[in-house]
Amino acid sequence: MTTISNALQAVRERIARAAVQCGRAPASIALLAVTKTCGPEAIRAAYAEGQRAFGESYAQEALPKIAALADLDLEWHCIGPLQSNKTKPIAEHFAWVHGVDRAKIAQRLSEQRPPELPPLNICLQVNVSGESSKSGVAPTQLAALVRMVAALPRLKLRGLMAIPAPTEDMAQQRAAFHVVRELFEELNRQGFALDTLSMGMSHDLEAAIQEGATIVRVGSAIFGERRKPL
Ligand SMILES: *Cc1c(COP(=O)(O)O)cnc(C)c1O
Repeated sequence: MTTISNALQAVRERIARAAVQCGRAPASIALLAVTKTCGPEAIRAAYAEGQRAFGESYAQEALPKIAALADLDLEWHCIGPLQSNKTKPIAEHFAWVHGVDRAKIAQRLSEQRPPELPPLNICLQVNVSGESSKSGVAPTQLAALVRMVAALPRLKLRGLMAIPAPTEDMAQQRAAFHVVRELFEELNRQGFALDTLSMGMSHDLEAAIQEGATIVRVGSAIFGERRKPL
């Protein structure tokens, strides 16, 4: 077995163990394999092990890989920071966008989503770490953004995404994810029918699963440490 195959299996086992520990079905948590800095051959290796959903942070890096892997049936998720003048290739080449945090970006993605494609799945990024994070909508501004995005014709609002400030302390990890979960549940009480909580990465996926994550985004635990942080 290849290294990627072993690592992928180990991550699947971590997800299943964390799910069972809190009484959730392992199949209710989807694994998004994050492939920034990885070459197409690493993606093919994960595909050979049954992985279909892949996450990339930068369109410039992702587009050549998406083209090189067009022979495979892959689901591409854009998880990186978004700039409003660079939304078009994202609207054209991805199935999901996780980092939407302002109205202008959402409007452009909706306008630029090609009519022949299904609506673009959207998670709104929430800032649960205050001033230490520059991206993400503030919890107090979230409801207004949700109403606006839910009304855009070419987007399908699926849920919330968060990247809490990194910490090794599991109680702190859980506390941050808990805030996201409460926001999510409140929106659903208001009738928005959200089904996705995109949270948890290599170092904190167990805490995220305990707080209800439905997509965990995992890179280094599958593909190895990246040379430089992106
Ligand atoms: C890089 C990245 C990940 C994966 O991080 P790892 O620590 O390598 O698992 C997840 N989400 C986002 C938004 C990322 O940029």
